[in-house]
Amino acid sequence: MREEVEKSEKLRLVSDMAASVAHEIRNPLTAVRGFIHLLGTGDVGPDKREFYKGICFSELDRAEQIISDYLSLARTDPESMELIDVNAEVSYLSNILITYANLNNVTLVVTLSKDTSLTTMGDRSKFRQALINIGKNAIEAMPEGGTLRLMTGRLGDQAAVTIRDTGSGMTADQIRRLGTPYYSTKEKGTGLGTMISFSIIKKMDGRIDIKSEVGKGTEFTLAFPRVKVG
Ligand code: ADP
Ligand code: MG
Repeated sequence: MREEVEKSEKLRLVSDMAASVAHEIRNPLTAVRGFIHLLGTGDVGPDKREFYKGICFSELDRAEQIISDYLSLARTDPESMELIDVNAEVSYLSNILITYANLNNVTLVVTLSKDTSLTTMGDRSKFRQALINIGKNAIEAMPEGGTLRLMTGRLGDQAAVTIRDTGSGMTADQIRRLGTPYYSTKEKGTGLGTMISFSIIKKMDGRIDIKSEVGKGTEFTLAFPRVKVG
């Protein structure tokens, strides 16, 4: 009997993991698909071509990274720690989200701070994953189109990223359920995206502030400890 329980528990873990891997792999695949499509349109100059190619490679690397992360879920070695330039990552994020935004009639507006000291510390590919999940949700909250704003700035002594949409918004109760596994209001949702994002942000000692109004939109502000460089 006990063995049976253990077995089903293990099966559940495997299928849970499979669901989250599928979810996380879909983001880079969608991005690569979009850029290959752009490359095929013909009127792409050599500079842009190299740029799109670079993004494809780095997104495929990310997919590979995600797979190995999940395969070594039990692993205990520390995550890679590197300096993260928040402006550079938000600009990267906008490149990743632009095809998805276009597809959904969403206008992307990016405002990067002139402040060059927005540097934090963490695992870069995880940081990207955290931002992409939140940005993707923002776009998905605007099925009739809208505006997605990405902003960076100083918040006290922290480096902040703001992701604001003009979408469906959430009730206080819905906000409370964010980040809990399998909470999804989408037909094909997994309810794992925000859970993964929140755990990455918390690991970086980051703060998450959410403002939302039903029918108006949502604003995520993520604030990270600033690391002084040089
Ligand atoms: P999924 O996207 O697969 O549903 P997530 O964990 O990424 O799972 O998100 C959980 C739920 O949180 C979504 O289904 C949605 O209801 C809600 N949500 C997240 N971000 C937003 C947003 N920007 N606007 C409105 N609802 C959101
Ligand atoms: Mg999601």
